[in-house]
Amino acid sequence: NPTLYIVPTPIGNLDDITQRALTVLGQVDLICCEDTRHSGKLFSHFGISTKTVSVHDHNERQRAAWIISKLEAGENIALVSDAGTPLISDPGYHLVSQVRQAGFTVVPLPGPCAATTALCAAGLPSDRFSFEGFLPPKSNARQTKLAELLQEPRTMIFYEAPRRIKDTLADIIEVMGPERPVVIARELTKTFETIEGRPASELLEWVNEDDNRTRGEMVLMIAGFKASDDTLPLQTVKMLELLAKELP
Ligand code: SAM
Repeated sequence: NPTLYIVPTPIGNLDDITQRALTVLGQVDLICCEDTRHSGKLFSHFGISTKTVSVHDHNERQRAAWIISKLEAGENIALVSDAGTPLISDPGYHLVSQVRQAGFTVVPLPGPCAATTALCAAGLPSDRFSFEGFLPPKSNARQTKLAELLQEPRTMIFYEAPRRIKDTLADIIEVMGPERPVVIARELTKTFETIEGRPASELLEWVNEDDNRTRGEMVLMIAGFKASDDTLPLQTVKMLELLAKELP
């Protein structure tokens, strides 16, 4: 049965490639890469010489039909992104959806993902969480998004660009208050891995203390909303919101 394999790749430490990923990447007829040159380096490190083709945000929908024709011809195909798990803030959704619609099997391999890796060491509740991807780059839109999440009770996980981390922390303080616990996990699985959690305003101070703390790749996590003594009970807030809508 011709199959599309979804294959996670390391997010820093090459030792995190799985045995199964190496087997699948070596055996398929074709590997779809977000960036063939980027993944080519990984493949040559592991001695994988399978043919590659690019599938990224801008050509994914058109490429899907062509990839389905390859599956129809009996080929097995793997999908990788630049790092971590494809489809998680990475291309692949349109491809998987169309391949499944065409009736072919999609086999997902477990493997590295920055979001779950970060959550596991954050010290925030992990029984329920909400993956929010990237926040909007502009402050206005970012504050609007954060306001929507103000009363989200689950731990929230975001991907963030290092150049925006200070502005984003300032927006979190503004919208969710200085006391909201926030955790930064940067350079996961790499030499300078750092995981630091503090109330939002203290975390911004910590970031401001050292420029290195704004470098590299990072995951941002925000503790879910907890109704405390100095905040109104949720029911009351909801009632006030309803009442406010009735006001002229
Ligand atoms: N698909 C990937 C995954 O499964 O994690 C995520 C791809 S997304 C385009 C890239 C973002 O993931 C980065 O901006 C950063 O927020 C996060 N990220 C990737 N590698 C990381 C690492 N080693 N440490 C911390 N965050 C990382």
